[in-house]
Amino acid sequence: MGTGPASGWPAYGYPKDKRRRPSTYLVECGETRVFLDAGSWEAVAEGAGERVSAVLLSHAHVDHWAGLNFLRWGPELPVFSSKETFEHPYFKEISDRPFSLALTPVEHFKRFEVGEIAVTPFPLNHVIPATGFLVECGTGLAYALDTRWLPEKSLRFLKGKADYLIVDAALPKGGQGGHNSYDMALELGLEIGVKEVFAVHLLPSVTEEEVLEEAERLGLEASVPDDGEVREL
Ligand SMILES: [Zn+2]
Ligand SMILES: [Zn+2]
Repeated sequence: MGTGPASGWPAYGYPKDKRRRPSTYLVECGETRVFLDAGSWEAVAEGAGERVSAVLLSHAHVDHWAGLNFLRWGPELPVFSSKETFEHPYFKEISDRPFSLALTPVEHFKRFEVGEIAVTPFPLNHVIPATGFLVECGTGLAYALDTRWLPEKSLRFLKGKADYLIVDAALPKGGQGGHNSYDMALELGLEIGVKEVFAVHLLPSVTEEEVLEEAERLGLEASVPDDGEVREL
């Protein structure tokens, strides 16, 4: 529902048919629906927030939680993340007044259940503390935003468990910072051994074509989803 970076897409001068709002993904398993991040209030509103069982929140950057503003006025809703994220100054706006949000701290590698979905948090490697989630419902989907590669223990944990990977592919080749360059994101998928990589959070300077060309060169199944795409895994 939101596959873009903090700026969203399209940025000025980029294709108008590519709609990518900030990070908001809706996972459905039987009767259970959860948001992976809630970065776009508009996407959250479209996602029928009142029927969602929980939000799994990765970190305190606003492009991953702006939609919580919308959800905190609804019925009680658990939000799972690390204690470090809830206590981070960037999240103070929400943590001071969560209203109907039940902020629930989780520990890395400690599995819990939300309805029919099993969730295991794992640490990421970003500029502030960040948590990825392995979401299991028959198949295993790993959500790794925002990150630059992964801590070794997270990488080891995901091998053999993650069938699919939603991953930060923000930066151009050679780009430095707290995000993957798109080629690193794809190589991470190879290293974990997933069936398919969903490369997301692309800055507007990274094109879909170059990401897919790189995936082909690596012999890896990959796609660059736009908002509104539905995938059955
Ligand atoms: Zn982000
Ligand atoms: Zn971030």
